[in-house]
Amino acid sequence: MSDKNKTIHEFDFNLICEFFSNMERQGPGSPEVTIRALSFIDNLIDKSLIADIGCGTGGQTMVLAQHAPGSITGIDLFPSFVDIFNRNAGRLGLQDRMKGIVGSMDNLPFQDEELDLIWSEGAIYNIGFERGLNEWRKYLKTGGYIAISESSWFTDERPAEINDYWMDAYPEIDTIPNQVARIQKAGYIPVATFILPENCWTEHYFARKEAAREIFLDKYAGNKAAEEFMALQPREEELYRKYKEFYGYVFFIAKKVEL
Ligand code: SAH
Repeated sequence: MSDKNKTIHEFDFNLICEFFSNMERQGPGSPEVTIRALSFIDNLIDKSLIADIGCGTGGQTMVLAQHAPGSITGIDLFPSFVDIFNRNAGRLGLQDRMKGIVGSMDNLPFQDEELDLIWSEGAIYNIGFERGLNEWRKYLKTGGYIAISESSWFTDERPAEINDYWMDAYPEIDTIPNQVARIQKAGYIPVATFILPENCWTEHYFARKEAAREIFLDKYAGNKAAEEFMALQPREEELYRKYKEFYGYVFFIAKKVEL
């Protein structure tokens, strides 16, 4: 495989984690969008248990904790993200209501029907949308909510260049109505869906990625793996700017029903 076609999977994970740990969020999103998604959820009280799966460094989890009652467990595969999560929680005085732990989304440490809310921004793709919906459902109480953001197609047809890019990166990407049908089939009532505004990509993601890129290249000047990984990054933004009417991130909010 030529360098041009190298994917993120082929680089040293520690380097990748270090790069992304210099960002407040590791994917597109914003505090406003987290709050908007939360506005559809009406079952939370002080005793509620919430999980944020694939929480990263916890940018969205801190917002959640500041705007919802209950206790939050953030789970992420990468210990360095979880360390930053717990540091941020402490800095905001939220350590009594939230805790970051290292764990994997395919083997969650929860009891059946224990959770009131499952949150997951830009992370479910790691096990796949349908699998996540099906496997995580058992941890939710009946009437509990799931709120997930996930990349989605906005149209049935799209140019080959962007189609090929996504088929290579994440072939499970689908249209909004197809995702909503999966939600219903998995035993939830689809409560709301909305498309994340463009500033979640431009301001909150690409601009911060550029800042992280400068810090990183400064530190790793001359490191071939680091430079190769960085060389890939502008492609994501280039494609987004060119094809943003065909895809983006979508928030899906749904409620667990008895099957
Ligand atoms: N929710 C955060 C991070 C999104 S990036 C945000 O919106 O900013 C996706 C996250 O999923 C990364 O932090 C990555 O470390 C985590 N991840 C990847 N595979 C995982 C797994 N199997 N279990 C738990 N977390 C995982």
